[in-house]
Amino acid sequence: MKYIGAHVSTQGGVENAPLNAMKIGAKAFALFTKNQRQWRAKPLSDQSREAFAKNLDESGIRPDLVLPHDTYLINLGHPDEEKRKKSLDAFIDEAMRCQQLGLTKLNFHPGSHLREISEEQCIENIIECMNATIEATEEVMLVIENTAGQGSNVGYRFEHIAAMIEGVKDKRRVGVCFDTCHAFAAGYDLRTRDAYEATMKQFGDIIGFQYLAGAHLNDAKSALGSRVDRHQSIGKGELGLEPFRFLINDPRFDDIPLILETIDKSIWPEEIKLLYGLIEG
Ligand SMILES: [Zn+2]
Ligand SMILES: [Zn+2]
Repeated sequence: MKYIGAHVSTQGGVENAPLNAMKIGAKAFALFTKNQRQWRAKPLSDQSREAFAKNLDESGIRPDLVLPHDTYLINLGHPDEEKRKKSLDAFIDEAMRCQQLGLTKLNFHPGSHLREISEEQCIENIIECMNATIEATEEVMLVIENTAGQGSNVGYRFEHIAAMIEGVKDKRRVGVCFDTCHAFAAGYDLRTRDAYEATMKQFGDIIGFQYLAGAHLNDAKSALGSRVDRHQSIGKGELGLEPFRFLINDPRFDDIPLILETIDKSIWPEEIKLLYGLIEG
């Protein structure tokens, strides 16, 4: 079964996210549990948590089909120890917030070396922060997102992600989110049946599908291998519709949140319908 949704707004409080998901016909959703451009946020109120639980229940969406995304400020690979610690503290807080909302996953962009340290050292820093977060929290799975490799971001090669998983002590607490736009921008083609299967074979061989915990469904404005992260509406970019037909009919993407982060929110209901319409048989 496929669970398709979008990264919905939490304006007015996190409790509004399940309602916003329902409005667009989503069967899964992503959200920020705090302002994505600020370091600090006030703790979630009991009232907000209770309303979230009630609305989530009403939406019929299972907690494991919700894929919270961390704030963009966090860099677990930061070369500077003090700044990395600030990121780690914020990341632990994010995982706690997921826990408080009864959610089981936290999706994050691994980090950036800022051209001050090697990719390997950056990955080591990320692993250390992941292990520390796992120790400080319970149950929440840390879901590594593959990146486009823009700037000095790591995580654009499947090998980077495999190395991170390898370094995490508790493997039950680590997962991967596959972003179609990021993969394409990083050089993994998906546009033909052969290209799609070749990319997925690499994912399976290098990372392993047992770690797949979510996907971001985005078309790309940027070219194959450009390492530029520019999302586009489904079927309107460089990827086109076919890769989404392959993915939506691929049982390896069953029972995980499939999240739109496409640029025109006003057409999300149509995009969700379009994607469900691609299911064959
Ligand atoms: Zn994404
Ligand atoms: Zn992106």
